[in-house]
Amino acid sequence: MKRQLEWQIATVKAVRTETPEVKTLTLALPDWMAHRPGQHYDVRLTAEDGYSAQRSYSVGSEPERTGEIDLTVERIGDGEVSPYLDDTVVVGDRFEVRGPIGGYFVWDSSIGGPLLLVAGGSGVVPLMAMLRHRAAAGVKDPARLLYSARTYEQIIYGDELERLARKNGLTVSYTLTRSQPAGWTGYARRIDDAMLKEVSAPLGRNALAYVCGPTALVEVAADGLERIGLRAERIRTERFGPSGS
Ligand SMILES: Cc1cc2nc3c(=O)[nH]c(=O)nc-3n(C[C@H](O)[C@H](O)[C@H](O)COP(=O)(O)OP(=O)(O)OC[C@H]3O[C@@H](n4cnc5c(N)ncnc54)[C@H](O)[C@@H]3O)c2cc1C
Repeated sequence: MKRQLEWQIATVKAVRTETPEVKTLTLALPDWMAHRPGQHYDVRLTAEDGYSAQRSYSVGSEPERTGEIDLTVERIGDGEVSPYLDDTVVVGDRFEVRGPIGGYFVWDSSIGGPLLLVAGGSGVVPLMAMLRHRAAAGVKDPARLLYSARTYEQIIYGDELERLARKNGLTVSYTLTRSQPAGWTGYARRIDDAMLKEVSAPLGRNALAYVCGPTALVEVAADGLERIGLRAERIRTERFGPSGS
């Protein structure tokens, strides 16, 4: 069996609060291997009675960080696994993971060229792995991130995105769909073709695009990118779940 498909026991090394509904777990892995940014791990939780539940979580950290990975988990109110990972797990806890998994929704510095990233909510996680890797590898080609969140407080990795945007030709645009703080100058509506056009225009039609988030947002954004002139084979998508944004 391929090494990535074998379960191993991860140990929680750190827990960081990102937003009221999102935490990042740093997991130490005995059998760590470098992931390609965009890949995910499966997490398997097993109760004492043997019942087990399995979910996928994208790696948020860059592969340059060896021996450990960050998973960033948004709590889904009535969910089975995410409330446990966000509310119950503490440093020192152990659970099973396997990965890294996925060969399509991946980007690394060898690909090069203009990069367009579109995220909804926790869909920013695999895109963050790409941006952290991009910074670590010193890539200079332009990159733009369009990030849709409901409110300002729900923006994940906001401070770090600001720091990353100050170097290496990264531009970050936000749209806040539910409420906006006083003086907000970003977008304030759901992603649409006009927004995609404005954000992507400086990159040209040959940009490579990665779209990740709730299913509805991914479909609107991927269709929109095609309508504004990107070729379908230059648009890669990852759907996290069934809800709207
Ligand atoms: C490849 C891949 C990578 C993923 N990476 C991440 C990640 O980095 N961070 C992250 O937080 N999640 C990620 N997810 C989503 C994650 O796998 C789970 O689906 C999510 O945590 C919900 O699991 P749960 O057990 O808490 O909810 P469940 O018990 O599975 O579902 C409870 C209810 O919530 C709905 N629901 C399920 N998933 C979602 C969702 N994502 N959004 C809204 N409603 C949902 C269900 O339809 C159901 O009604 C990823 C999914 C995939 C397929």
